[in-house]
Amino acid sequence: MSIPVLVINCGSSSIKYALITEQPDQHVSRISGLAENLGSADARIKGTTADNQPLELAIPHADHEQALETILSHLSQYKPQAIGHRVVHGGTLTRAELLTPEIIERIREATPLAPLHNPAHLLGIDATMRLFPQLPQVAVFDTAFHQTMPAHAYRYAIPGFLYTRHNVRRYGFHGTSHAYVSERASSLAGHFRQGGWLSAHLGNGSSTCAVWNGQSLDTSMGMTPLEGVVMGTRSGDVDPSLHGFLVHNLGWDIDQVDHMLNQQSGLLGLSELSNDMRTVIEASEQGNAYAVLALEVFCYRLAKSLAALSCALPHINGLIFTGGIGENSAYIREKTIAHLPHFGFNLSKEGNYSLKRGAEGRVDQGNGPQIWVIPTDEEGRIAHETGQVVTQPSDLQQN
Ligand code: ADP
Repeated sequence: MSIPVLVINCGSSSIKYALITEQPDQHVSRISGLAENLGSADARIKGTTADNQPLELAIPHADHEQALETILSHLSQYKPQAIGHRVVHGGTLTRAELLTPEIIERIREATPLAPLHNPAHLLGIDATMRLFPQLPQVAVFDTAFHQTMPAHAYRYAIPGFLYTRHNVRRYGFHGTSHAYVSERASSLAGHFRQGGWLSAHLGNGSSTCAVWNGQSLDTSMGMTPLEGVVMGTRSGDVDPSLHGFLVHNLGWDIDQVDHMLNQQSGLLGLSELSNDMRTVIEASEQGNAYAVLALEVFCYRLAKSLAALSCALPHINGLIFTGGIGENSAYIREKTIAHLPHFGFNLSKEGNYSLKRGAEGRVDQGNGPQIWVIPTDEEGRIAHETGQVVTQPSDLQQN
């Protein structure tokens, strides 16, 4: 059964929202938007209405609760029957959960592992609980999909007590996206949730994932979303001794190191220009040497991560690109695959470059592992999982 679900993704000063209704004929209707600059004079809501008209509203100095109230006043005629919250870190929770005081506490306990994200989600949860106490609310975690990783993939080679007493382990993120695109690719390939897929989610944050028969077996992000491949402003993997070097030799404190690795590194750090892939590609086309290097490092590290994750898979059916970069940059797809000649990928140059923005399609030549571009749909997946949780009889009884 599908019900209208309001999907909410709260950041520290923004709220992305979408009201999603899956019709019985599987057609999905969607009204979506963004409240941004919350808390400032410039706070506003931008989105679309049900008949696809642009919606723009100034909500000066509105906080999360006021913004949600305004959003809902524009959507209440569509009678959402549940709210689905995107929550980045769910600790060891393995699936979407109905929000109860116990689950909210588990999200709070995971805050040290996602200090930038979980506090903002809790703000949103708190506001929606007060505004809509009658609606069932569900948390869908970025980490949950990766809870199927075996211990040899999720443990760090550090003393065991840090894991047993302090939960220091690899969790992985972007789970909603990797789950959606791998399910979609396997279904388009005619083997629903079967086989081995390498998935590359490339946006401002980027990660790779190895999926076998619909389950995550390994992923590039770790205890936090900093580990792994090169991102917009995040470094991805560095030698852990870099921290000691900067503290002991340059006199930095640990917050400075953290800030540099999370906010000043990645494409921005290498190009010394921008965290935005489009800007870096344009600069490289004009011969900017730092931008050229940034793209080289980005694609080489990405290919290296995909090759490493292939160890998790008994067999590779295909590779999937998604996220703003993965969906839109034929150049980055081509450059990355060029680093993986021994996998037998045969990219169709024409197919790759002819895929237009937001399009879904297969871009290999049909005689090697498949290569798919699949636009991700994290909101659709959150709405779907929320619908499943609230229509389960046992969960309804808890309401
Ligand atoms: P987020 O992780 O914030 O959801 P997105 O998935 O929207 O981000 O991805 C944003 C990234 O996608 C940016 O680096 C942007 O430059 C890149 N991008 C969008 N369109 C293109 C394009 N046509 N070519 C290359 N990169 C693109």
